[in-house]
Amino acid sequence: MRILIYSDIHANLPALEAMAAATAGGYDVSVCLGDVVGYGAQPNQTSAWVRAATPTVIRGNHDRACAALHGLQWFNPTAAAAARWTHHVLEEPARQWLDELPAGPLPWEGMSLVHGSPLDEDEYLVEPAQAAGAFAATEIRLQWFGHTHIQGGFEYSEEEVSEFRHGEPGVRQSGSFTLRLQAGARYLLNPGSVGQPRDGDWRAAYAILHQEDDAVTFHRVPYDLAAAQASILQAGLPAALAQRLAKGQ
Ligand code: ZN
Repeated sequence: MRILIYSDIHANLPALEAMAAATAGGYDVSVCLGDVVGYGAQPNQTSAWVRAATPTVIRGNHDRACAALHGLQWFNPTAAAAARWTHHVLEEPARQWLDELPAGPLPWEGMSLVHGSPLDEDEYLVEPAQAAGAFAATEIRLQWFGHTHIQGGFEYSEEEVSEFRHGEPGVRQSGSFTLRLQAGARYLLNPGSVGQPRDGDWRAAYAILHQEDDAVTFHRVPYDLAAAQASILQAGLPAALAQRLAKGQ
């Protein structure tokens, strides 16, 4: 089975549509690791797409905040302003769907799905030391996480944690790269962010797990950046949210 794994769409419809076009016919089932909304200007549209296309979705901190205005005290002023705007424009079916999304970690297909980390759905797994704690929490071989908006992840093998990121030396900077899963190793993998990448590459990120080959391909696809920026400005959302998209920050 080929499984499309994606996360952190953040109401960026052009980015989501680019991923949809690039992956059409290329997977059997999809899962989403949360943050369908927040920051971007088309939360009803991205919610409708994810809801229709993806049977398994876990909530992100922005989904929780935008649906019910919970946890805003942890948000910076820009993120909080975007959450309030999103809450205001969300239509009731979308708001209710977001509000009822399950929290991770969610067991699925022998793997585990989390938004932040297996220990705390809001924790950012950025450093190998943080990943070590997450590896210690479970014996599951393959865990998927989002939240950092950084495509790549961590491998645990012979009691050592190693990290790899999109764009780093040894990892291809353009198009896609493939990770072959090793016997005896365990993994925490992040497909990257569809709608607001923060690893220095503005293009939409996602991953496909090829179960028969025991391999993961990480992908980047360009999208209509100008359209996403224009809709953010037109909505009256903070201009910084449009500017950061171009930098991949
Ligand atoms: Zn996010």
